[in-house]
Amino acid sequence: MEINLISDTVTKPSPEMLKAMFNAKVGDDVFKQDPTVNEFERIVADLFGMEAALFFPSGTMANQTAIKLNTNPGDQIICDKWSHIHLYESGGASANSGVNFNLLDGKRGMITADMVKEGINDPEFYHTPFSKMVGIENTTNKGGGACYELEELQKIKQVCVDNNLKYHLDGARLWNAMIAKKQHPKQFGALFDTISVCFSKGLGCPVGSVLLSDKETIKRALRIRKIFGGNMRQAGYLAAAGIYALQNNINRLEEDHNRAKELGKQLEQCSWVKIVEPIETNIIIFSPIESVSDTEIIDKLKQKGISISLMSKGKLRIVTHLDYRQIMHEYVLETLSKLTF
Ligand SMILES: *Cc1c(COP(=O)(O)O)cnc(C)c1O
Repeated sequence: MEINLISDTVTKPSPEMLKAMFNAKVGDDVFKQDPTVNEFERIVADLFGMEAALFFPSGTMANQTAIKLNTNPGDQIICDKWSHIHLYESGGASANSGVNFNLLDGKRGMITADMVKEGINDPEFYHTPFSKMVGIENTTNKGGGACYELEELQKIKQVCVDNNLKYHLDGARLWNAMIAKKQHPKQFGALFDTISVCFSKGLGCPVGSVLLSDKETIKRALRIRKIFGGNMRQAGYLAAAGIYALQNNINRLEEDHNRAKELGKQLEQCSWVKIVEPIETNIIIFSPIESVSDTEIIDKLKQKGISISLMSKGKLRIVTHLDYRQIMHEYVLETLSKLTF
């Protein structure tokens, strides 16, 4: 048995999803003539109660477009030090938009309204970069799938309004957050200027992210996506997967979360595990005791057919997902319980 727990991006389209893709009506989306892409963008925009949406080939491109929409060169983005837009987009924010970061020292990738307020540069003091955008990540990737209380996001929104800051949500795993916290897409749509959501992670699509905003902003986003080379032609085949995922793969995220918690409980029983970070969604981050190295654990599990990944030195990551089934879960729990060093 091969069990891949390195990320929720490893999922493959199910036969039912493939059937939906195969049957999609398509056209040339560069001329905005792909009916399935148009329908998908409409559905996602309505779901969030936002005016418009645009389909992207990746979450990175959707985030990079949002940054370009919300800033000018020289401006500063305020976000947590572990943010994907800072750490894992290959320096795109500076390469594409010429912006820099004020990195806040949040908890598990999450920041607070007070920290944001503290992090804003005085716009009259012309020596410092102009604070222009706050970037939120929910759930947090490096923070181990932690997710925000809506109340804190509302407080941060108020700080943004008071200080003329754009408010962007990197919601690659927002679906997981909404399931875990019983929140609704419209609650997020009402808060943020721009939101990116990913379909190729927990929702199991092969490709695709969507950027949400108001009509004017999405019109500008269309041009930026073109500049970034993100136009796709008969993309309806991919959008059909997104529509299928919205209808079938959201509520089941709860299963991934439950399995993640069960894995966490098992890891806590293991003598070779020092810390298991709190588990809120589908990401488990744990640290081994000093006498056991990261690679020893990864290698030993690999020999048993289980792949997990290294998040950073001393921190290992397991991610549960759609293709991680109960039978695999039972095998992994048993394997972990028997593993010794
Ligand atoms: C995966 C991810 C993205 C986007 O990644 P792509 O691989 O470009 O789709 C953005 N933000 C976070 C937090 C992510 O985990």
